[in-house]
Formats: sequence, C-alpha cells, structure tokens
Amino acid sequence: MIKAVLFDMDGVLYDSMPFHARAWYETAMRHQLDATPEDFFLFEGRTGDSTVNALFQRTFQRDATQEERETIYKEKAALFNTYNDGQPMEGAAEVLKQVKAIGLDTLIVTGSGQHSLIDKLNQSFPGVFVREKMVTGYDVIYGKPHPEPYLMGLEKAGVKASEAIVVENAPMGVQAAVAAGIFTIAVNTGPLDDSVLLEAGASLLYPDMKSLAADWKNIMESL
Ligand code: CA
Repeated sequence: MIKAVLFDMDGVLYDSMPFHARAWYETAMRHQLDATPEDFFLFEGRTGDSTVNALFQRTFQRDATQEERETIYKEKAALFNTYNDGQPMEGAAEVLKQVKAIGLDTLIVTGSGQHSLIDKLNQSFPGVFVREKMVTGYDVIYGKPHPEPYLMGLEKAGVKASEAIVVENAPMGVQAAVAAGIFTIAVNTGPLDDSVLLEAGASLLYPDMKSLAADWKNIMESL
C-alpha cells in the first residue's frame, strides 16, 4: 500500500529549470569552464558542489577547491535569483491536491540549496509540505544520483521503499530514486529525450504534470 509521495522540486513543482540552466551556463562561461547549456539538464539533481566539481574535472582534470566550489555556487545562485520568476509548474497543484485527497504524505527531496524556492514552497502550495519532511542539498553528503537523498526521504516519511512513489524530471534524480528501490514516475518537463528518463529506470513517463494529474487515479488503482 502506498503511503507517501516524494517530490523532486525543480522541474516538477517549479518551472525553474530553464533559469537554473541559464544561470549555471553563464557562470561556467565566466570561469572559462567547459560546458553546454544542455549539460545542466543532464547534471540536474546533483548538489551545487558536485556540479562545480564535474565541470572542473572536465576542464582542468582536477577537483575544485572548497573556495572555488563556494564562490562559483554563490555566483550561480545569485544569478538564478535574478532570473527566476518563481512560477509553480503547471499542473503541480492538481497533482498535490489528488495526493492529499487520498491521505498520502507529501515530501520534498531536492538537490537544491536555493533558499529562494525552498522557503517559497508553503506559499506556492499552502499546507502541503513541512520543513521536517524535506531533504535538500544541505542535508546530504553524496546527493543524486546516489540513493542517499531518497533513502533519507523514506526515513523522514517513516515508510518503506515499497510504500512510496517518487515524481522526478531529471535522469540523475530518477537513477537515485530507482537505486533507493522506489517506484518512480518521470515527467519530462525539459529538453531531453524521453529515452534518457526511461533508461534511467522510470516506470512511468508523462510529458508534464498536467497529464500526470489527469492520470493519477488510474495510477493509484493499478498499484
Ligand atoms: Ca528536478
């Protein structure tokens, strides 16, 4: 029996990924790091530290120092805040309403360390999420695609993997959830091909949150 739904945040609840990708790409260019705009949809879900490190490994074949990681993530976060319009993802409120209506617990499991969005959740989706049931970029050591964030989410929910569902939009997020043993629904709200999410292990795939909301009852009945 399903007891909880673990939601990723960016690209699932907020239409924020284009702003993250733009902020990351422009910051990477400023620091002469080797990157393309699409990279950041593939890296999505990783912590800021891990993303900076991946770019340093690719460009300079070495790890970024702690100072480099902090400086660059700070610049990216500041740029993101100037671009982000804070718009919830279309259809997200409908999905949450249906999840709440059947009495399931709702949690956030995000690699993000952007206070601007984490703090806004209660305003965007009143009464749905509580801080004690969120796993953010600040809580984890490894981050996605490691199962750690989702295992922490299960622990915070007090449920087993078989009692939970994950909603994710990023390949590394799907990998993390599947590695934690959780039934994972992908919503492809970004520019990547559907096959990338299916190969990462998603059990179901929807083009957006609106179509997930429309099919939610069927999913619950089939589980
Ligand atoms: Ca995401």
